[in-house]
Amino acid sequence: IREINTEAALLSGEVQRAIAWPGVLEAMAGVQREQFVGKADQAAAYCNAPLAIGHGQTISQPLIVAIMSGALRPQACHRVLEIGTGSGYQAAVLARLVGEVYSVEIVKELAERAGVVLARSGVKNVHVRVGDGHHGWPEAGPFDGIIVTAAADGVPETLVAQLKPGGRLVVPLGRTRQVLAVLTRRDDGSIHREDLLQVRFVPFVEG
Ligand code: SAH
Repeated sequence: IREINTEAALLSGEVQRAIAWPGVLEAMAGVQREQFVGKADQAAAYCNAPLAIGHGQTISQPLIVAIMSGALRPQACHRVLEIGTGSGYQAAVLARLVGEVYSVEIVKELAERAGVVLARSGVKNVHVRVGDGHHGWPEAGPFDGIIVTAAADGVPETLVAQLKPGGRLVVPLGRTRQVLAVLTRRDDGSIHREDLLQVRFVPFVEG
C-alpha cells in the first residue's frame, strides 16, 4: 500500500482520485495476493509488479488493480461485470467494494482455478462463468460498472449496452500503445470518454 501511494503521487489527479476512492486501499489490503499466484511466486506476490498465472496470462500490477477498481467509483449496492477473471484477484478486490461481481473468463482452466481460489478465500459474491467476454453477461445486467482486464482494439459496444445510465466501463484501449479509458454512459445514452494513463495489458481475444 505504501508503494502504491508513492507511485500514485507521480500520476494524474484523476488517477489519484481513483486510488483514493473510499474503500479501495482497504479492499487491496484485505485480499492476500499470494493466494492467487503459483507456489514459485509467493514472495513476489507482494511486489508492485505483474505476475504470470499460466496460459500466457498475467495478474495485473497491484497499482493498476487499485486504479481500475477506484475508476469504477464502486458502491456497496453495485453490481459489476468483470471481463477476464484470470487469477480471480481483481474480482476478489471488487467483491469487497460492491454487492455482486459477475466475471467472465475465456480460458476454462483459469476460470475453474479462480472459482476454487475464491471459494477457498471465503468470497461468496463473485460469480464466474466461462465464455467470450465480448458478449458480456446480459442476463445478469444491466451493470453499474464493467471492468475489462484485457486490451480491446475499439470500444466494446455490446458491453456499453449492458451499462446502466450513469454506469462506468473501465477498459484498456489500443494494441501496442494502450490507454486505460473510462467510458461513462450518460442518461441520454451518449458516451463520455476519459483517458487515465498508459497501460500494458494482454489482448482481449476473439472467442
Ligand atoms: N483480472 C485478472 C487478470 C486478467 S489477465 C486477474 O486479476 O488476475 C486477462 C484475462 O483476460 C486472461 O485471463 C485472459 O484469458 C482473459 N481474456 C482474454 N480475452 C478474453 C475474452 N474474449 N473473454 C473473456 N476473457 C478473456
